[in-house]
Amino acid sequence: MGIMAPPVSIPLVGETGGSKSSPSGDLRVRRAGRRRQMLALIAGCYLIDAVILLIYAQAGTVPVTIAPSYAAIGILTVALWTALSESGFNDRFRDHYLVVPQSLVSMMVTVAFCYIAPEVSILFLCTLYIVVAFASLRATPRQSAICWTFLALGLAALFLLTDKPLGMPHDSGLERLATLLVFLLTIAGCMFLGIFSSALRETLYQRGLKLTEAYRRIEELAELDELTGALNRRSIMHVLDEEMARSRQAGKPCSVVLIDLDWFKRINDSHGHPTGDDVLRTFAITMFANIRGSDRFGRYGGEEFLLVLPGAPAEPAARLAERLRRIVAELEWSAFSTGLQVTFSAGVATARGDETADSLLARADRALYDSKAQGRNRVTSA
Ligand code: GH3
Ligand code: MG
Ligand code: MG
Repeated sequence: MGIMAPPVSIPLVGETGGSKSSPSGDLRVRRAGRRRQMLALIAGCYLIDAVILLIYAQAGTVPVTIAPSYAAIGILTVALWTALSESGFNDRFRDHYLVVPQSLVSMMVTVAFCYIAPEVSILFLCTLYIVVAFASLRATPRQSAICWTFLALGLAALFLLTDKPLGMPHDSGLERLATLLVFLLTIAGCMFLGIFSSALRETLYQRGLKLTEAYRRIEELAELDELTGALNRRSIMHVLDEEMARSRQAGKPCSVVLIDLDWFKRINDSHGHPTGDDVLRTFAITMFANIRGSDRFGRYGGEEFLLVLPGAPAEPAARLAERLRRIVAELEWSAFSTGLQVTFSAGVATARGDETADSLLARADRALYDSKAQGRNRVTSA
């Protein structure tokens, strides 16, 4: 008959693949649950086949003992696999469904019954077909080759070394009914396999999408400063190199503004480190809200930030820095903590000719130092 005795193996949708021997507790439980489902399905298949064998027995095609023997042996093998599965034995293997051993046992049982009841061998041959098809869903090419070779040997022995009359009973109405059921169930089994494998493909596809999204997110996180969402130091330095090269090629200016929050240590000391963090976040948000999409903003160090202004000549860059300085100084910082005031000092520099990023930053840093020296809360151009 048809449908049956699939050697286990069906990798159920949502299964996390073959981690080696020691899956986590949760995973073990999920896997054991899936194996249970699978073994129940196999047991069901043996029972359905046994019912068809009973119909053949009723038709007088085979002795009445065949059906209960087949059911008993099938259920016994399922019981043994269940005992192994429940003991945790399967978890020791990468292929926790034990595809090959289960397939081989199913094949042995099925070929043996072909030999014992050759009159209804169509039922067992169809079963073999489904067993191998189920196995190859999960098996590696090597495992599939092993199963096929084993099957070929068994069938060769049956077909070539015996002269058993292998039959497809269709003489009486009952026989025709049983044989019809064999075919219909086999076809249903094939359809189930098809549906199952496309569900599997869909799952893999969805997982691929999630993975791509996760990679994108990881890349994004690797570029951003966690606290402020500004580019981290590595990224902003990279951006600076790129923008300077691009501006040079295009014959356009490129300016930078190096910003350092004033008296930030005092802010931490007087208002607490968490308030200091809030200040850094709010400062960054304020910057983002007031620069253009093409301007790049990164955290250079603790409370130091770097603004890269591609295409900006010295004058407009200094004007922007001054505007930002005023916006920050005029924010209602006391909403965070009574008496809190935040200002920054900045140094503006515009790249000259073939100047390197290091030299440009050094000039911006000297200008920043001058701003600090002149009393803070001011912008100085290099
Ligand atoms: P100046 O006006 O001369 O720049 O003085 P300052 O206090 O801002 O400069 P200083 O370099 O002495 O102190 C910087 C402080 O910034 C010290 C450090 O604890 C604080 N800081 C650095 N990173 C963080 C952070 O992520 N969160 C908080 N809350 N504080 C930080
Ligand atoms: Mg500093
Ligand atoms: Mg500072």
